[in-house]
Amino acid sequence: MWTIEDSVDLYGIEGWGNDYFAINGRGNLAISPRKEVGGSVDVMEIVEGINRSEAIQFPILFRFPQILEDRLEEINGAFLSSIEELEYPGGYRLVFPMKVNQRREVVGYIVEGGRRLKVGMEVGTKAELLAALSLGLDPEALIICNGYKDKDYLNLALSFSEANNIIIVIDIFEEIFDVLRCSKELSATPRLGLRTKLFSRGSGRWEESGGELSKFGLSTAEILESIRILSENGMIDQLKMLHFHIGSQITDIRKIKIAMNEAARIYSKVRKVADVEYFNVGGGLSVDYDGSQTPTSASANYTLQEYSNDVVYTLQRTCDEEQVPCPTIVSESGRAIAAYHSFLAFKVIGKKNSKDGLDVLADDDDPVQIEDMRQALENMDLENYAEFYHDALHYREELFDAFNLGNIGLEERSKGDLLFWRVCQKAATFADADENDSEEFESLKKLLSKKYIGNFSLFQSVPDMWGVQQLFPTMPLHRLGEEPTVRGTIADITCDSDGEIRRFAGEKSDFLALHNLRDDEDYYLGTFLLGAYQDTLGDFHNLLGCVNEVHIIVKDGGWRISKVVEGDDCEKLLRFFNYEPEEGLHEMVERSCVGEEARARVTETIRKALREYSYFKDRYLREESPASGGDGPRS
Ligand SMILES: *Cc1c(COP(=O)(O)O)cnc(C)c1O
Repeated sequence: MWTIEDSVDLYGIEGWGNDYFAINGRGNLAISPRKEVGGSVDVMEIVEGINRSEAIQFPILFRFPQILEDRLEEINGAFLSSIEELEYPGGYRLVFPMKVNQRREVVGYIVEGGRRLKVGMEVGTKAELLAALSLGLDPEALIICNGYKDKDYLNLALSFSEANNIIIVIDIFEEIFDVLRCSKELSATPRLGLRTKLFSRGSGRWEESGGELSKFGLSTAEILESIRILSENGMIDQLKMLHFHIGSQITDIRKIKIAMNEAARIYSKVRKVADVEYFNVGGGLSVDYDGSQTPTSASANYTLQEYSNDVVYTLQRTCDEEQVPCPTIVSESGRAIAAYHSFLAFKVIGKKNSKDGLDVLADDDDPVQIEDMRQALENMDLENYAEFYHDALHYREELFDAFNLGNIGLEERSKGDLLFWRVCQKAATFADADENDSEEFESLKKLLSKKYIGNFSLFQSVPDMWGVQQLFPTMPLHRLGEEPTVRGTIADITCDSDGEIRRFAGEKSDFLALHNLRDDEDYYLGTFLLGAYQDTLGDFHNLLGCVNEVHIIVKDGGWRISKVVEGDDCEKLLRFFNYEPEEGLHEMVERSCVGEEARARVTETIRKALREYSYFKDRYLREESPASGGDGPRS
């Protein structure tokens, strides 16, 4: 008997779910935005509610503002507990790097959820700075300015720096001259930081962001020269922060220890000549996307608490040795704050690769290979399946040759094909039972896997899966008390062969265990941990636009939709790419339709299509009952 626990193991949910995700007694996915306190919500209850209201179509991105708040508190809490445990005499400040997710709603939740903790913002461009300045942050919350800074950027930062905790970090040595000039022009007293280029690098996919070849950061010589220049200009007291960032998703704790060691030494030396207040350890805190707890690129071999312990411990030990005061620690853990708070829910709208279903009738005129194939299928067992499979491969070759020579027709070729796939399927079942994981049978199983078509765009919603082959956990949202009997991958609805989810978290990584599709019930899948980087990296491939968003609050034993953000309709997409749809299409109608009535009808069709969500709505022939006018939402 298949149990819910089997599904928990199969999909690895306890590994990557970080206690936010679980499977409930109904066999549905459940989300607890505040973990063990504050209750949980059955995702299918939300899905059913939305379908009943017929107001919002799938795919839908669900956001849980309370998860963001929980992340802030958990990260802050981990540092405070390390500080208490180790009796570190300095404080801690958490900062959200805006490039991880600039969406106004998301940043708004972080500002509100983090107000008590004085959570700050890190920005890397002029536009991000403008956005951060518009948030109504507490004057004590840090705004850390990184990235390439032109005159407008510096002017903006300097104009507000007196009354706010804005720190301009010199990322590239030459910037120091611009900062000096700009400050003089505005008679501003800037608060400055220096970004150091460490010898140490990160690990994993973003290893190149650190080390000597990194894009940003000052070498030791440049740091010394900067200190000399600041002193010469009477501005050494303005140096408030030392910053480093060795890359995102650092998968190996040893890399963090090594970098911390080096950076803490640099801090100590600089602290002897300047009254540096903040030590900024940048980002890099990992998210365990595949749940394996290993130093592989989708995972990490350490916990949040281990991370904060290492940071605090290394800094304290170095400061003690060097006899300098301990600074306030700042961290910019963007991925770890944002990743968990959102997931994409989409419907499966069909399947490909379905090499079964059609009947194969025997015929006296069948070529011998077809008869042999039929025999193989009938007589196959656990002992001989490999041999029969090899025979079948051979028969198929012969049939192809015969076809190419014109000796058999399409009928026979198709019969041979269907029988061949049946032999393959049976052989794969025996190989499974036999626990045969030889390369040959593994690739056969892969060949036999189904492709479910998901109504979403990988390029819009999970861009890093396409761009940097990052893994994001994907699994069914329901039927989890039922054994999944289909193995498959998930293709999206773009016309791009790269638009396919091919790697999965959990026990099996190159296919997903899926349930058989039913005629009378939609099948929903979710892709999780999408809150970091995916929202603004997503693109408009095939003109599939931003998805509908629903924000959910779980409270007092229930849940409610706190906000709906409508995705793009076709018209918005066309206008975004500089089309003027009304005009162009009007001309097309004039040219193609004869008569007033036809024009009016086609014009209405166009109007309707322009107002529609860009994703697949409903299959044409799906049982439209004349009374209700269809069964899909918003029909
Ligand atoms: C990108 C970036 C971060 C965020 O890194 P995460 O790995 O997402 O925590 C932090 N600081 C700086 C300077 C960055 O460029």
